[in-house]
Amino acid sequence: MTTPSLNDVVEAAHELWPVSLAQDWDASGLVSGHPDAPVDRVLFAVDAVQGTAREAIDAECQLLITHHPLLMRGASFLPSSNDKGRVLHTLIEGGCGLLASHTNADSMLGGVSDALIEACGVESARPLGDPEGETGIGRVGDLPHETTLGDLARRLASVLVPTAGGLRVAGPKDGTVRRVAVCGGAGDSLFDEVRHAGADVYVTADLRHHPASEARERALIDGGAPYLIDCSHFASEELWLAHGARMLQENLAGKGFEVEILLSSVNTDPWDFVIVPEDVPVSASTDPEGSGYAR
Ligand SMILES: [Zn+2]
Repeated sequence: MTTPSLNDVVEAAHELWPVSLAQDWDASGLVSGHPDAPVDRVLFAVDAVQGTAREAIDAECQLLITHHPLLMRGASFLPSSNDKGRVLHTLIEGGCGLLASHTNADSMLGGVSDALIEACGVESARPLGDPEGETGIGRVGDLPHETTLGDLARRLASVLVPTAGGLRVAGPKDGTVRRVAVCGGAGDSLFDEVRHAGADVYVTADLRHHPASEARERALIDGGAPYLIDCSHFASEELWLAHGARMLQENLAGKGFEVEILLSSVNTDPWDFVIVPEDVPVSASTDPEGSGYAR
């Protein structure tokens, strides 16, 4: 077994998550680093922020692989005094490269939404946007046994990394669920696909008021489903880190390369605490089958 170069690791990552599968607006790929530099330790994280950059340097990693691109919307100025520049300077000065595997890792089999739907208990899933294909955004599949919305939410809460906001659920706690649709990260553009797939529940993150409210209003006309489970964007994607690390390690080992791959333990969910209105009377839900949560 030999030590790979940074370029060897990037090539392996791009075999697993081809950049050709990334969306046009995305910025997946190698952000910084010397292609010829040897890499014997890699850190996997969801976000390229100062906390994970420091974590990579402190653990003596030569490559940080993140799901979210640091420079998604481009940048003209990267002095160490601005937020993005500080992260990049930390990495470059610490001798650590940066690679982003974003919508290409969402799309590929074994990707971000596969990890999320597996955590829901679904054993076999297909892409939500392209049911015939093998790649694409989101996943849908059936649970081996029917369960309730409340139990599925509790199961997810027990496997997702804990975050301040927890989970928000729309629908009756005892509502029956069997077909589960998921999209790791912000998935409010996929409601048509979720309905088309006949999902009983949609698990995603960052659901805003209007898309969520409109989806529930429409679901009530259609009989109540799909219910919604809204989790932390970070937590919904953090599940993938272990999958991604294992796939990369196996790919490299198959080529005779030895690399240690670490998973970030920095929680990059931006929220720190929530106030739950325990003592405030909660108005009845407008949903006749609703859970009674305040709207
Ligand atoms: Zn994301």
